[in-house]
Amino acid sequence: MKTPHHHRMPWAILLVAVLTLGLCAAAVAPPTSTAPAVPTLGQNVVQTAAAVEARKSSLTTQQRRNLKFAQSITKKYGVTIVHANNRCTTSSRVLGCYTPSRKNPLSISTLGLNQSRTKIRHIALHEVAHREIHRKCGILIPRIVKNRIERVTDAYSVLLGAPNVKGLYYTSKDMTVAKKIRAKICR
Ligand SMILES: [Zn+2]
Repeated sequence: MKTPHHHRMPWAILLVAVLTLGLCAAAVAPPTSTAPAVPTLGQNVVQTAAAVEARKSSLTTQQRRNLKFAQSITKKYGVTIVHANNRCTTSSRVLGCYTPSRKNPLSISTLGLNQSRTKIRHIALHEVAHREIHRKCGILIPRIVKNRIERVTDAYSVLLGAPNVKGLYYTSKDMTVAKKIRAKICR
């Protein structure tokens, strides 16, 4: 997928590029498992709890607050968002991913958690929008979006209440497509 470039809006370019990679790569990302292989249930519980604690402590207080903030946004759509890096691409610039094969398909990266609340709100609702499009049409990239999936997803995120921040590259046509998808018109 091509990413339109506009050099006056660096963070937006980053977001767009990264989110594009996110979905594109999501379908091909191999599943990874961090679950330890252990002999007994008791040991398993202890090790899992330790692993969870280790993951938690890898976030700063501010990042943890921002994760809770992102979760408060996605919760309205009956879904949570988890902290994960490299889920759909190994790019260090990834901000968020939608990986429907996962139990919790929405994720936000450490870099994503370092953004402003406005941007975090956009990242969260962008990933929710991917999920909504998937649910409405039963397919990740409905025919009607042609090669505009990321742009239509941005438009859809605005329909969900995302801030219409500078640098979102959707056109009025993308918005029309997003509204059609909302009405379950998928092709
Ligand atoms: Zn995306």
